[in-house]
Amino acid sequence: MGETTRALKDELKAYARAQGADMISVGSAEAFDAQVPNLQKTSTTAAGMKSLIVFGRHMLTGALTTTDVELQGVNSHMCMDEIDRLSLAICDWLEARGYVGIASPPEAAFLDLDPVKPMGTLDFKWVAEFCGMGQAGLELNLLTPEYGPRQYMGVVMTDLELEPDPKLSRDLCPGLKCGRCAVTCPTQAIPQEAPASARSVRDYRYLNKRQCSLGAQRIGIRALHLNLEDIIFQRAPIDPERLIDCRYMREWWQSNNFKVGSFAACFECWYVCPPGKDFKQLIQVPYRKQDIPVGAAATIRRGDKIAIVHRGPNPERADAYNRDKEFVKAGTVTQDKE
Ligand code: SF4
Ligand code: SF4
Repeated sequence: MGETTRALKDELKAYARAQGADMISVGSAEAFDAQVPNLQKTSTTAAGMKSLIVFGRHMLTGALTTTDVELQGVNSHMCMDEIDRLSLAICDWLEARGYVGIASPPEAAFLDLDPVKPMGTLDFKWVAEFCGMGQAGLELNLLTPEYGPRQYMGVVMTDLELEPDPKLSRDLCPGLKCGRCAVTCPTQAIPQEAPASARSVRDYRYLNKRQCSLGAQRIGIRALHLNLEDIIFQRAPIDPERLIDCRYMREWWQSNNFKVGSFAACFECWYVCPPGKDFKQLIQVPYRKQDIPVGAAATIRRGDKIAIVHRGPNPERADAYNRDKEFVKAGTVTQDKE
């Protein structure tokens, strides 16, 4: 790589940061594609791309210090809007210099891409890990040295060849030696056990996405499917009036208008994750200290496995995340009207 290319990368990074990106890294599109096992490759979407540019925008710490999950969700959507704006700005910057930039959409699912595996154009956390911006942790959130899991990401593909950044030199997530996200997850979507012989969290990190969606997308498509199935197959005696005027319907309307609840409706694994310079501030808040009180979780040995156990759960929050069946529940004739 020549001096000109390096100078262009520095210029691009400075521009993105001035536009509001908190972090930005670059990698080779060809090398990334070579190690991706499914269709979430650059070449599936566009030919001739040389580089991947990944960048992030952090969640406001103040939002995460509140007890209000809806307010936190609004902050998520503001961050996502910022990611859209940054994507456009970076693409414009590239076009002004005679290159193309293709912004990979963070939220859209491309339903004809692959019916079995994930359906976005690129899996951002793997792009970010590949480009050295962070590491996917035990729960497959992208962790960065700056903000742990508490950021949103965007990716731009480009035909401009940029010098790749080095990978992160150390693991940010110690896996089940920490395990705080696993014990606090209200839907048990994160592994709580792993072979004792595992050398790194990279050997067993995983997220049960369906389980997670019950908490994080409680007004999402899965909840709608479950509720419609119950109604169509008449699994419960429904009172139409109660069904129409219930909390689920109001939240559904809100999610359509403001996206609230459609994603980013659970932050439990974000509150407790120690990496990130923002964590010190977050954990000062009395309410956040209660997420996992000191001594509440412990790593134990179970035969040839290590496991994380929770000794001080916070069960009073569970109902907030297990509301996917609320539509039908609210409409059944045995329920009291809200
Ligand atoms: S977002 Fe909530 S439900 Fe999903 S993995 Fe994190 S804690 Fe679990
Ligand atoms: S909470 Fe602990 S185990 Fe979970 S992702 Fe963060 S560092 Fe890793």
